[in-house]
Amino acid sequence: MERISYTSSKKIGCETMKPFVYDLTLDGWKSWAKEQGEPAFRAGQIFDWLYVKRASSFEEMSNLPKPLRTKLEEHFGFVTLDEITRMASKDGTVKFLFGLHDGHAIETVLMRHDYGNSVCVTTQVGCRIGCTFCASTLGGLKRNLEPGEIVAQVLEAQRLLDSTGERVSSIVVMGSGEPFENYEATMDFFRIINDDHGLNIGQRHITVSTSGIVPNIYRFADEMTQINLAISIHAPNDKLRSKLMPVNRRFPFEDVMKACRYYIEKTGRRITFEYALIGGVNDQPEHAEELADVLQGMLCHVNLIPVNYVPERDYVRTPREDIFEFKRILDRKKINTTIRREQGHDIAAACGQLRAKHMESSKR
Ligand code: SF4
Repeated sequence: MERISYTSSKKIGCETMKPFVYDLTLDGWKSWAKEQGEPAFRAGQIFDWLYVKRASSFEEMSNLPKPLRTKLEEHFGFVTLDEITRMASKDGTVKFLFGLHDGHAIETVLMRHDYGNSVCVTTQVGCRIGCTFCASTLGGLKRNLEPGEIVAQVLEAQRLLDSTGERVSSIVVMGSGEPFENYEATMDFFRIINDDHGLNIGQRHITVSTSGIVPNIYRFADEMTQINLAISIHAPNDKLRSKLMPVNRRFPFEDVMKACRYYIEKTGRRITFEYALIGGVNDQPEHAEELADVLQGMLCHVNLIPVNYVPERDYVRTPREDIFEFKRILDRKKINTTIRREQGHDIAAACGQLRAKHMESSKR
């Protein structure tokens, strides 16, 4: 995987800003230290303060000389997220709405499972992909997030868990936005959270989900990481997929499947296909049959997601029995299938709903 190097300022939206402290990989810190005439070990110390001791100011970094702390202050911004709302579900799910420095808001979800704590992060403010069942795309894409703004979401969840001595053990990149349209920042995010000098979240415990940005599926395959890949497929053929996901006109179904086959061949890793079931639209037995035929022989797994009600869209939920029937058809054809367990239902945890509400109330 290629590495970023340090840049002294960057443009975020319309503003030119100092980079955030969480933007840099450990190698990025090493190159910054070198540029400043500091010994390389300072990079490790800074990384340790940020991710192990979880300092929230340069002042706290007591083993760094004062002139270095001043330099850090001059070169980097610390505050990235401002908590606007925090909602806790009965099942332990916590949903955050964070404000960014430029007035935008993003969502992050902390989920509690038997096997650990997982954080669902956002990679863009809004989204331009336009999936018809998704609230995140309603206002279009505002801007990409910086790596540090993605990392900070994990840190905020980790700070909450610190009070009970728990840790974030897995990450899903399935919040608002299309991570493969913010590819470099997403890859830097992975490098930072995966680094064993910091949060040390194992690659096999990270999953990234894309709507099918074909060139970056190939690129991701060539990175040869252990990170799990999920594809939002949502239909068994080109025609229906184009209706549900306008991105399919840019990257047709067959091209997505070809890229997936390349990924599997290159990495030997299994792909997850996410399939949002929408009542009467893509949830009929014939859809399940067709999907099973398309996926036949592939190293894959299907995750069925009963679609959440989005007030702005005219979709109804698939009846429970039909969800099970869909799964039964796939199982019968030897396609490994699960039904996603819903979490945080009582706190509008579906992608984009909290932000959509916030945008609506800000307008009033
Ligand atoms: S489902 Fe994902 S890719 Fe599709 S519009 Fe929503 S955020 Fe964008």
